[in-house]
Formats: sequence, C-alpha cells, structure tokens
Amino acid sequence: NRAGDVGEGCRTVPLAGHVGFDSLPDQLVNKSVSQGFCFNILCVGETGLGKSTLMDTLFNTKFEGEPATHTQPGVQLQSNTYDLQESNVGLKLTIVSTVGFGDQINKEDSYKPIVEFIDAQFEAYLQEELKIRRVLHTYHDSRIHACLYFIAPTGHSLKSLDLVTMKKLDSKVNIIPIIAKSDAISKSELTKFKIKITSELVSNGVQIYQFPTDDESVAEINGTMNAHLPFAVIGSTEELKIGNKMMKARQYPWGTVQVENEAHCDFVKLREMLIRVNMEDLREQTHTRHYELYRRCKLEEMGFKDTDPDSKPFSLQETYEAKRNEFLGELQKKEEEMRQMFVQRVKEKEAELKEAEKELHEKFDRLKKLHQDEKKKLEDKKKSLDDEVNAFKQRKTAAELLQSQGSQAGGSQTLKRDKEKKK
Ligand code: GDP
Repeated sequence: NRAGDVGEGCRTVPLAGHVGFDSLPDQLVNKSVSQGFCFNILCVGETGLGKSTLMDTLFNTKFEGEPATHTQPGVQLQSNTYDLQESNVGLKLTIVSTVGFGDQINKEDSYKPIVEFIDAQFEAYLQEELKIRRVLHTYHDSRIHACLYFIAPTGHSLKSLDLVTMKKLDSKVNIIPIIAKSDAISKSELTKFKIKITSELVSNGVQIYQFPTDDESVAEINGTMNAHLPFAVIGSTEELKIGNKMMKARQYPWGTVQVENEAHCDFVKLREMLIRVNMEDLREQTHTRHYELYRRCKLEEMGFKDTDPDSKPFSLQETYEAKRNEFLGELQKKEEEMRQMFVQRVKEKEAELKEAEKELHEKFDRLKKLHQDEKKKLEDKKKSLDDEVNAFKQRKTAAELLQSQGSQAGGSQTLKRDKEKKK
C-alpha cells in the first residue's frame, strides 16, 4: 500500500484547484430549509399537570384545545399538528397528549394505549418504507421524537404508575422526565426530590434520554444539563410587567414566579435542550435507535434475517424464497392432511352406511320371519277352522241325511201310490 491509500482500492489525491464540492453542506442546508422540518412531542402525565400550558409556553403561542376532564373511562392519545414558521424555517410540529392518564382507579393498563400509539407510528413508517412506490420525502413522519414525562411535584418519590410507564416506553422513545408545576415545591425539597427521582430511575433500570456529549460543540453544555435532569419546570402564558419588561410569569399573593428565570425554574434549560440544541439529535436517535429496534424486531418476527444459521449473508430474495417454499410446503402438508381427513371421513361414512344397511336387512329379515310366522299361524288357524267347517258340514249332511231317511220311511208309501195313480 502506498502512502495516502484509504482502504483497499482507494487513495487520497490532492486537488490542483477549487472544485466546488465544499458547498455540499450548504446545499444540504438549503434543501433541508426548503423541505421544512418535522418534530413530534409526546406529553405523558396526569390530567391537570400543566401539559398544554407548558407546550404553549415552550412554543410561545396558544395551541387550541379544551382542558380535559378527570372522568375519562380510559387513557386516550390526542394528536394535533401545527405548521410553525420562524425566520425562513418551517416546522411541522405535532403535539400528542395523554388524555385521562392517571384518572382511573385501576391504572394497571394505562401505559398500553401509549405504547400502542408509539408502535403504530413506527408501523406506519415501516409500511411506507416497504412500499414499492414509497414517497418518504413527502411522507408525514409521525414517529415520536421526544416524550416529555410530567412528574407530579409531590416531593416524595415516583408513583408506581410513572415507573411502570417509563419502563415500558424507554426502548421506544426518548424520555425526558420533567417535574411539572415545580412552583409547588420548595427549593430544598426540589433538590432532594430530583436526587430521589434519579436514583429511583436508576434502580428500576429506566433509561432516560441523555443529551449527547460526543459532539464537541455541545458536549460541555449537554454534559452539564444531563446533571440537572429531571428539569423542574413552570408553565404560564400570562405576561406580567416585571421591572420594565413583560415576562411570562405566575403571580401569587406573596410574589411572582418567572418562567424564564433560571433561579426560579429549569424552563429555559428545557427549551434550550429540547429545541435549540438537541432537536436534531432527538430526531436522529428516534430513527437510528428506537425505530431501528422496532424495525428489526418486526422484520425478524416476519421471518427476515441477515444471515443464515452458518452466519453467511442471507438476502431478502433468499428469505422470500425460503419463506415461500416453507409456505408452499405447509400448504401441501395441509392439503394432504385435508385429503387424508376427507378419505377417512368418507370411509367412516361408508362404514356407517353399511352398518345401517345391515341393520335394515336384519330388521327386514326379522319382520319377514315374523310375518311368515304370523301367516303360518293364520293359515293353521284357517286350516283348523276349515276342518271344523268341513266336520260341521259333514255332520250337517249326515244329520240331514238322517233326517231325510226318517221322513222317507213315512213318505215312501205316498210316493208309491202317486206313481200308481200316474200309471
Ligand atoms: P393538562 O391537563 O396537563 O394539559 O394541564 P393544563 O395545562 O390544562 O393545566 C392545568 C392547570 O394547571 C391550569 O389551571 C394551569 O394554569 C395550571 N398550571 C399549568 N402549569 C402550571 C405550573 O407550572 N404551576 C402551577 N402552579 N400551575 C400550573
């Protein structure tokens, strides 16, 4: 290998002058800007924890939406998409919020609709990818990029509902836990609460999103911010005059809490981290980690694999053919089974019919014999009756004969005289 060779068959050569491909990053930026961006946030938290207020505060606008009631029979996910514009950059923002989360007495299955929703977005993307005519550049990607998990400011510990839900979600989405309505908790309590939450997350093996520290330009700020998690936030869309500036704040009888004052809460930290510094990383992590995992499991479930049992590459075509053959084999087996079953059924039916025929024959024979016996009996009876009649007749004739002989003895002389008279 000569010096300057990069890998096999590739070497570095110097350019004699300006070519122009150094504008590639600019081209990418221009293309991205003209295409616009898309970002999807999922807000998970109990009703009334300030999810909608925080979204309005974060994006400095008033998103539509009615406050949810606490009487929902189950957890539902409500998704709204908005087109936002800042300078010349367009952002298609989708905010998904859990409605009715934590409102039921039995919270056992509360995480399920959330998991199903996240999976459904992955599935829709996968289906688009698998299409023959796919249009991913215009496809509205609804995969969740960030999940803001709203923790109630109890100052105690995480509720089991929070732990279970976060555990179920951590392999599917970037979780950023936040302590909601943190003006409800004192500063010293807050410090303890944060430590408690972090240790509970660790001991339960819940993986939360870590701001990336591999990129030098943001490594320091992200590193510092990771130590501040979970952020304690306050939301308010109300603007109050503080000094001579209008500021977002919440006013109480005893004073004012400024949303954007870092001494009052971590709202600014959250906005910096979520929107200004790591939005792209959140999008990337969603695609390369969470979606990748979903896709892999789904394809494996469908029987696709990259290598055969001997660790040799196994192409999609081969997988398809193997699956097809397996399917055809199974079909044949099923067909054969059905044929055998049919033959068996026919045989059984035939035997049943034969048995029935035999029974019928036997019955017929029995009846025939009975009939013959009956006939014979009747004939015998007839014969004996006939004999009786004959005997009677004989007796009758004998009696008549006797009677006529009796009367002849007296009457023969009259007959003689009559004959003589005739002569
Ligand atoms: P959601 O049901 O989670 O969307 O909650 P909302 O955003 O509708 O807020 C419920 C109530 O909590 C409203 O009256 C808000 O003004 C109030 N709220 C929102 N954020 C805060 C906060 O940071 N601190 C306090 N104390 N109240 C808040």
